[in-house]
Amino acid sequence: MKLKVLGTAAAEGWPALWCVCDACREAARRGGRDLRMRAAYNVDDYLQIDLGPDALTQMWQFGVDYSKVEHLFFTHSHGDHCEPEHLFFRRRGFSIIPEDSLLHVYGSEQVMTALQQHFPVLPLLQAQFHSIRSFDSVDCGDIRVTPLRADHGGDEEAFNFLLESDSGRILQGNDTGWYPEETWEFLAGREIDAVLLDCTYGLHSGGGSHLGAPEVVQAMAELQSLGALAPNARKIATHFSHNGAALYDELAEYFTPHGIEVAYDGMIVEV
Ligand SMILES: [Zn+2]
Ligand SMILES: [Zn+2]
Ligand SMILES: [Zn+2]
Repeated sequence: MKLKVLGTAAAEGWPALWCVCDACREAARRGGRDLRMRAAYNVDDYLQIDLGPDALTQMWQFGVDYSKVEHLFFTHSHGDHCEPEHLFFRRRGFSIIPEDSLLHVYGSEQVMTALQQHFPVLPLLQAQFHSIRSFDSVDCGDIRVTPLRADHGGDEEAFNFLLESDSGRILQGNDTGWYPEETWEFLAGREIDAVLLDCTYGLHSGGGSHLGAPEVVQAMAELQSLGALAPNARKIATHFSHNGAALYDELAEYFTPHGIEVAYDGMIVEV
């Protein structure tokens, strides 16, 4: 299984559109791994997690071929992860779609409601919409996808996804605070090969709907103690906000002694 990390920023992107903070200015000056688009992932070409405002640029920059995507999962309805307009462009007149092409779209009730309000003409999109619930797995070709219950605050039902195939397991875990008990229980003993966790607050401590670096270290240790990590599992921090202020080099300096990698746009995670 080959997962491409298409974006590693929190909602505003980094550098953020209007922002004059030091972290945005410095990221623009350094470039490279400090330029972060909104979070999304492509797995083995045919499976996509989230389709946010940067989907078009991500296509050009990382060679994503959306015409090959058969299964699209949304973590939640926030605008940095779910941009309904991009689905709208599957319509005739905007794109030429092969007649036998069918896109399966999965999300919570809230995501489904948001999409259906946006598109009274769903049949024209050559897409089928599936409402999913935490811990109910969906088999997509060789990959089993299980939505896990995240803690993302408010009344938003947010998912993180566990991806399992014969080649290994990957946990995609952004936009969550500390997991609820049932998610820890589900993950126990899973021997996951690569884990990506939310680090919105940078080196600061998190709270509520996101994590910071100290909680990422703590959560990785928790996974370890639950037997949820395979030997030599890749541990990765992602989904960073400019408000967290720490740039790539500072994050790497903090995380490296803990055996944790710092994600960047275009990172490949293969298990
Ligand atoms: Zn987010
Ligand atoms: Zn800023
Ligand atoms: Zn969110």
